[in-house]
Amino acid sequence: MKTAFIGLGGMGYGMAANLQAAGLLTAVYNRTAEKADAFAQEYGVDAVSKPAETAAHAQAIVMCVSADDDVLAMIDALVPELGEDHVVIDCSTVASDTAREAARRVAEKGAAFVDAPVSGGTEGAKNGTLSIMVGADESVFERVKPVLDAMGKSITHMGEVGTGQATKAVNQILCAGINQAVCEGMRFAAALDLPLDKVVDVVGSGAAGNWFVNHRGKTMVKDIFDPGFKMKHHHKDLGICLHMAELNGGKLPLSAQTRAEYEQLIEQGYGDEDISALYRARRDLFDR
Ligand code: NAP
Repeated sequence: MKTAFIGLGGMGYGMAANLQAAGLLTAVYNRTAEKADAFAQEYGVDAVSKPAETAAHAQAIVMCVSADDDVLAMIDALVPELGEDHVVIDCSTVASDTAREAARRVAEKGAAFVDAPVSGGTEGAKNGTLSIMVGADESVFERVKPVLDAMGKSITHMGEVGTGQATKAVNQILCAGINQAVCEGMRFAAALDLPLDKVVDVVGSGAAGNWFVNHRGKTMVKDIFDPGFKMKHHHKDLGICLHMAELNGGKLPLSAQTRAEYEQLIEQGYGDEDISALYRARRDLFDR
């Protein structure tokens, strides 16, 4: 299936490269044209100057942009050029209602839509090892499976459009709690003068082990917060989780607390840092 890619950011660049390696990629678009030109030069595919031009190059159009409004803006730009052969696969993290709205808009031209948010960080994007949670009609899922296989190692069909994003919201709630626990634990370890790399290796291979401590534990304590997963994006995601909880008559206290702490750090200018920069907010837990 010929595939085009929109949004060559921290995630998209690696995902598009893996589609190219699988022989599927035919064109790329990025709002900031220099990134698309650099990709085109590196991988020998066409860089187009408007999102709608991707439709002439491909049946599958994958996008990975920032937030809900950005996804709907790209959908509106694409819709005039879409037809029954097209399927739009959105890998951004947005709300389930945004996914359903995007599906409604592309369906007006007979095209299909898949919400396929991802987990696994920029490393997973680069290495093609993402976990992808998919909302789509069963037959559409089967059609796009080879495209998803090229970008991830665990591809799970959750149900109809919107269920991929709902599952991703669960993932983001867990990430908030894990970030809180790892930052607090590593701050404690630092205050007790433990050898921090060894702490990460030991706890990372036992019952408390997790992706975040293994990939970010050693860097956060050295004040290295390169993205990664930008704090402003997790802040956005937790807003989605709180919105979905409210729609369903519930509360998410840990997510709300984490989002409020991110908000303060973003105001201090740290929004483009990795979410492990929450460690900054833990410095005052101990005197030393
Ligand atoms: P990023 O590095 O900030 O890249 C965002 C990309 O979206 C850029 O290519 C940007 O274009 C494009 N974009 C944003 N708004 C746009 C608009 N209105 N029109 C056209 N293009 C637009 O972000 P990222 O880390 O790749 O994340 C992308 C998505 O994946 C987000 O929804 C994020 O929550 C999700 N995600 C990220 C991670 C992670 O670890 N980073 C993990 C899982 C999921 P420009 O180059 O012109 O700015």
